Amino acid sequence: MSEIININENTWRIEDGFVRMFLLAGTKEALLVDSGVSGPDAKKIAERITKLPVRLINTHADGDHIAGNEAFPEFYMHPREEVNYRFRGKGGKIVPVQQGDVLDLGDRPLEIIDLPGHTPGSIAILDVNNKVLIGGDSIQDGRIYMFGEQRNLLDYVTSLEKLSAYEGRFDEVYASHSTVSVKPDIIPKLIAGAKQILAGEATGEEIDMFGNSVLLYQFEYAGFLCPKK
Ligand SMILES: [Zn+2]
Repeated sequence: MSEIININENTWRIEDGFVRMFLLAGTKEALLVDSGVSGPDAKKIAERITKLPVRLINTHADGDHIAGNEAFPEFYMHPREEVNYRFRGKGGKIVPVQQGDVLDLGDRPLEIIDLPGHTPGSIAILDVNNKVLIGGDSIQDGRIYMFGEQRNLLDYVTSLEKLSAYEGRFDEVYASHSTVSVKPDIIPKLIAGAKQILAGEATGEEIDMFGNSVLLYQFEYAGFLCPKK
């Protein structure tokens, strides 16, 4: 069961259990960011909110972000995410997007920023005029999943460091999990935490996640779930 919340006159968040989607409307079209976890209805929900044609983009292809993808014949996704996506048995045509691409919804340009680390093809979306960065799972105050084959904490650090080049271009970060809107000052904290883990200077607590024994590094601003050494 999804809950729809208006953020401003042309932006909505759609809460789908523990994950959320965003719907951004321009003057010509609307863009749904991710398609949820609970079922195939994200497109229907978006089309009830706006009369504009709705396209889909995925921040990445983890299972909780793609449940409604197949209602769209094609969707934007980073090409490095295709393996992850097809592995989950999902269909549809990927329209590749990557670093520097700009999607314009009509007076609402969106800039794509590659953020590999959480997954190889994770991206962030800069809503240029609104000074908002939509960061998927990479920038949030909940638990960031960094265990599993394709995840890479060193790449994650490099990606977040790259965001300093965008300083001043966003005042808020919208996250897929946990608190909806976090301030950009969480980014240097996440970098510092990830570096402490990489350097072996942080202490993790062993917990069970879906039958995997992993290490939770809980900092005051966020947590990282990492493989045991
Ligand atoms: Zn997620």
